[in-house]
Amino acid sequence: MKSRTRAVVIGGGIAGCSTLYHLTREGWTDVVLVERNELTSGTTWHSAAQVTNFGMNQTMVGLKSHSIRLYKELADDPDYPINYHHADGGIRLANTEGQMQGYRHFASMARGMDVHFEVIDADECARRHPLISTDNLIGGLWDPLDGDIDPAQLCQALARRARKAGAEVYRNTPVTALTQHSDDTWTVHTEHGDIDCDVVVNACGYRVNEVGAMMGVHHPVSSMEHQYFLTEEIEAIRDAGHRMPLLRCPISDYYCRQEKNGLLLGFYEQGCKTWGMDGIDPNFVNALCPDDLDRVTDVLEGAFARMPALMEVGIHTVVNGPITYTIDGAPLVGPIPGKRNAFCIIGLRAGLGEGGGHGWLLAQQIVHGEACYDTWCLDPRRFAGHANVELTALKAIEDYQNEFRFHFPHEHRPAGRPAKTTPLTPVLASEGAEFTVVNGWERVDYIKPDPGFSPTLGFDFDETFDLVAAEVESIRTGVGLAEVNGFNRIEITGSDRHAFLDRLFCGLVSRRDGRVGLGYLLNDHGMIKAEATIANLPASDRGPARVWYGSAAASEFHDMDWLRQHLRSNEDVQLRSLTNDQTILVLAGPKSRSVLSACARGDWSADAFPWLSARECFVGIASATVMNLSFSGELAYEIHVPNASLYAAYLALREAGETHGLKLFGARAVESMRMEKSFLHWKADLITEFDPFETGLDRFVRLDKGAFVGRDALLKRKSEGPRRKLVPLRIESTLGPAHPGASLMQDDSVVGTVTSGEWGHRTEMNLAHAFVHPSLAEVGREMELDSCGKRIGATVINPSPYDPDFARMKA
Ligand SMILES: Cc1cc2nc3c(=O)[nH]c(=O)nc-3n(C[C@H](O)[C@H](O)[C@H](O)COP(=O)(O)OP(=O)(O)OC[C@H]3O[C@@H](n4cnc5c(N)ncnc54)[C@H](O)[C@@H]3O)c2cc1C
Repeated sequence: MKSRTRAVVIGGGIAGCSTLYHLTREGWTDVVLVERNELTSGTTWHSAAQVTNFGMNQTMVGLKSHSIRLYKELADDPDYPINYHHADGGIRLANTEGQMQGYRHFASMARGMDVHFEVIDADECARRHPLISTDNLIGGLWDPLDGDIDPAQLCQALARRARKAGAEVYRNTPVTALTQHSDDTWTVHTEHGDIDCDVVVNACGYRVNEVGAMMGVHHPVSSMEHQYFLTEEIEAIRDAGHRMPLLRCPISDYYCRQEKNGLLLGFYEQGCKTWGMDGIDPNFVNALCPDDLDRVTDVLEGAFARMPALMEVGIHTVVNGPITYTIDGAPLVGPIPGKRNAFCIIGLRAGLGEGGGHGWLLAQQIVHGEACYDTWCLDPRRFAGHANVELTALKAIEDYQNEFRFHFPHEHRPAGRPAKTTPLTPVLASEGAEFTVVNGWERVDYIKPDPGFSPTLGFDFDETFDLVAAEVESIRTGVGLAEVNGFNRIEITGSDRHAFLDRLFCGLVSRRDGRVGLGYLLNDHGMIKAEATIANLPASDRGPARVWYGSAAASEFHDMDWLRQHLRSNEDVQLRSLTNDQTILVLAGPKSRSVLSACARGDWSADAFPWLSARECFVGIASATVMNLSFSGELAYEIHVPNASLYAAYLALREAGETHGLKLFGARAVESMRMEKSFLHWKADLITEFDPFETGLDRFVRLDKGAFVGRDALLKRKSEGPRRKLVPLRIESTLGPAHPGASLMQDDSVVGTVTSGEWGHRTEMNLAHAFVHPSLAEVGREMELDSCGKRIGATVINPSPYDPDFARMKA
């Protein structure tokens, strides 16, 4: 066994084998995989191993189609062919118009990744799958490349190719401990000796937290018991002359594929069971849980009704094994939060279909620092401190129960809520607030007209339309108040704080006390990594001179890791998170200055406290830090208050606002208004796939300022010209917004992809942002939006259709 290597991958299921293989493909050939037993002896060996293109966003579709391409190549390798039923085709069934509309959206989205789904009616479903009845069926989504693969052969094929490239695989070698050294390298301790390495990868399936504990980490991953059975031969299948397509059913929660001349039927029952919550038997190897078909009778009935042939046939094998889930159903693939040189590829619930793609994206991240797609939807840092074992289990159960039921826009399911609140949450709830969830935080979405108000889930504008219009109107003409909780806030102190930030931002960083600036951080490839406001606060009785770095709520762990990674040991810089200690109250609208003046001492006139100023003060009796900043396009103030005095500040603002008709507003109004200002959202419009010039942020880049992270790569990119450009669009429809991921078309060609969309209530325009082909990035250029299967006109417009001179927010 080697005593030193570049990377050690722990775990020899599909996750580990794919990572090992792809590391060699990305150029790291001195790499090792250690497996406590035999390869595939965790979950992988007994997987139903269906392999589909279907995913909820373009990154998921892209990585799944990578799996399919790779598996086909492996299956066709004459030296080591493997069993892969490629392109049997598969149908995702639907019995509601809402599901069908969703499938049309997913087809539009996948088209941008060169993946071609078809939305078919019930008769066509039955024509393609002769065993099904069309009762209670409207239609379905057809993936022509759906299929299934032999999981053990697949892993052996990946390991074989990795070995041929120089990698080594040590079986029957349990990892017993991990040690990280002061230079951030690791020693992996195994039962057969130690291996020093630069990078470790946790690919331990349901044992993820045994290995997590070895580095002092708890991963938000829970296991569920999951069952399928195999039937005896079915004559109709034997005689069909073709293989049956796969089925996935959100109506009765099962999947089904052909296995030999019978069927394999898997279940997602409502009375589901977590597994391994109190520890896992060390001898649970190549093992299964006891059969429990009584648990799945609810689901079986639906499957029998859809495929009556099932009633006539015997069951010859039942498989019940652990399958891992995370808080939002997507795996955790990427850097481990708070650690250096440590990565994970865990929480895979569809690891056979996705594993090829996950290993590919992870290897790119390890070797190059970033993958070809934005991987935020997989990033282990997308959950912050609330992601504990109990919350994960609750969300895992909910997700399992809804396996094939996609989330509609604005849908937030109830399990594990509320996770993170402020002292204002119950107060706002009593005022009629409906909440959305942002990184676990309950954030006001809008104010309900009555407690029973419940808008229809779907892809069109819903019953909140007029409510949001009214909230926006009160901000346009008067004054509104919103709580923005969970906003990421990092306090940066020390004499080198500005030099440090200057190195990270691609533009100029204001050093003036009392000033606020917006800026962008790039990765080493010159792509957009983060967006932050920088507020310079002078020394006061509240602390030394300091910078407040503010960014999106979800970025809490992501941005902290990025800042910490770039600290130099000799630099006088300290970082402290205030995210869980401070909350923002946003006061917005032309009357906001009068309200603030009525409850906070001092001169708040435009001369004394202009746009982009910051000042410490008291709001009522609450100590507060006020910034003259606007995301709405109206005159607005961000009032940052410690949570202990948040209610006091709120009461003072409400009282001061009474004579000015102050109204509460929520996130949906903010979304509408920011679209009218062409302001961008991190991880919607701001992604690692594009540089700041492609994203239209030229005015935030100063290439002549000296060195900064990503500058050399950006210069090179600039000389090559843009591949896409982000533009604002007007959509010619009053029915529904443009949904992120939807394709923009010219004739049959995809020419762009939507990143955000919402109705602008002040401009009365349906607005979108999209990355489009550079030749189309001119005002007036026309194209068509594939909006849930309908072609709708879309025209490039000038940025900031509302108040383009920014006069209102600077008033
Ligand atoms: C019944 C069932 C049906 C399924 N059907 C499908 C399907 O149709 N399609 C699909 O895509 N997915 C399916 N899945 C899910 C899929 O099988 C899993 O997502 C996938 O196998 C997980 O692979 P993994 O590599 O993450 O974990 P595992 O296969 O569990 O591999 C983890 C490995 O880590 C090793 N390990 C653990 N601790 C240590 C240690 N300390 N030292 C060294 N090694 C260690 C283990 O021995 C194990 O081999 C199904 C799952 C189940 C249970």
